[in-house]
Amino acid sequence: MNNLYFTEEHNLFRKSLQDFLQKEVVPYIDKWEQTGEIERFIWKKFGEMGFLGIKYPEAYGGMDLDLFYTVILLEELQKVNSGGFAAAIWAHAYLAMTHLNAEGSEAIKQKYLAPSISGDMIGCLCITEPFGGSDVAGMRTTAIKEGDSYIINGSKTFITNGLLSDYLVVAAKTDPTVGGKGISMFVVDRKTPGLSSTKLDKLGWRASDTGEIAFDQVKIPAENLLGEAGKGFPYIMQHFSLERLIMGINAHARAEFALEYAVKYMSERQAFGKTIDQFQALRHKVAELSTEVEFCKAFNYSVAYRLNKGEYVVKEATMSKLKSTKVADEVIYECLQFLGGYGYMEDYPLARLLRDSRLGPIGGGTSEILREILAKIIIDKKTYKPAT
Ligand SMILES: Cc1cc2nc3c(=O)[nH]c(=O)nc-3n(C[C@H](O)[C@H](O)[C@H](O)COP(=O)(O)OP(=O)(O)OC[C@H]3O[C@@H](n4cnc5c(N)ncnc54)[C@H](O)[C@@H]3O)c2cc1C
Repeated sequence: MNNLYFTEEHNLFRKSLQDFLQKEVVPYIDKWEQTGEIERFIWKKFGEMGFLGIKYPEAYGGMDLDLFYTVILLEELQKVNSGGFAAAIWAHAYLAMTHLNAEGSEAIKQKYLAPSISGDMIGCLCITEPFGGSDVAGMRTTAIKEGDSYIINGSKTFITNGLLSDYLVVAAKTDPTVGGKGISMFVVDRKTPGLSSTKLDKLGWRASDTGEIAFDQVKIPAENLLGEAGKGFPYIMQHFSLERLIMGINAHARAEFALEYAVKYMSERQAFGKTIDQFQALRHKVAELSTEVEFCKAFNYSVAYRLNKGEYVVKEATMSKLKSTKVADEVIYECLQFLGGYGYMEDYPLARLLRDSRLGPIGGGTSEILREILAKIIIDKKTYKPAT
């Protein structure tokens, strides 16, 4: 499968990324997991290596590379075993920056995209609200135009990089009377008066800071509007394809990591006079789980291939996240079981993997919402078109 999608250049990129992560990231992961804070220096190092600009234009300092370089970045990030660290990086580079690149004006790209690629600025994407995340069109945050400015009022919650980010890409209603058709996207500078954030405590993703954001009469220049007013909902939906595929790829990569670890452990751990990888009950489980992961991986690569060619893969990306996150949860649950009591200990990787993986079927569209989208496509023949 590797030769189907990955060239020699891709493989060299993977190797240099692995070396970088081992040297620059792995030594700090436990500390960041404990403090809940990723130190600023690592963003600059990622920027210097070009890892934050893989899919962005060279004009802003990016590398303009095909999507399989992104696949490699996502997979290798999962293998340092900190869902929170990985999320901080991909929420910046693929949630916030995707909007800047696709809808931002030239001035916005110079001011926010270029420093995001170099690692000098960190971004976050603010869609979910305390009153409900699944019902995006029902959001209550408003951005009302007053002369050359917009005034934002409302709140957002569960925002990845919600505290450490320098700017926020925010969805708000410019016309609250027309539901989803009244949503627009903005970039908001962290230092703008009236903006405040509170850190949230959570089950997993412990290295990433997840925040609740309050907007109280936050006044931003009208030129901070991203794209056209009223088109926020289609923009969000359009980028969900990439976001959902990202979460599918993350899921197959962490499941693969869990299996690799568990199989090695099983080859060393003894019970009843033999290594536990000799017990048929466990062997067959490994065979079953590996098959599931391999199917997800093959499917996710095929979706990445089509997305890279410019196809609008709403259905397939939705399936990718739905299935892969379910498989990852099952695989990680079973791998923890293979380790017995050690699986439950923080000194072994499965405990963190288990709690980090649980977010898969929730964040970026719950599995229930994904099934709803797929049912509409499959049964009601609903079609989705790109916004731009
Ligand atoms: C750690 C973390 C990081 C996150 N990062 C971000 C971020 O960076 N930016 C951002 O904008 N958001 C972020 N989110 C929010 C995430 O996308 C939402 O939590 C998710 O979309 C669900 O929204 P909700 O929590 O409001 O659940 P709700 O919408 O309240 O749903 C509650 C339950 O009801 C079910 N449900 C709702 N509607 C239906 C329906 N029509 N049919 C069947 N079941 C339904 C849901 O599936 C769920 O089980 C993050 C969340 C977490 C936990």
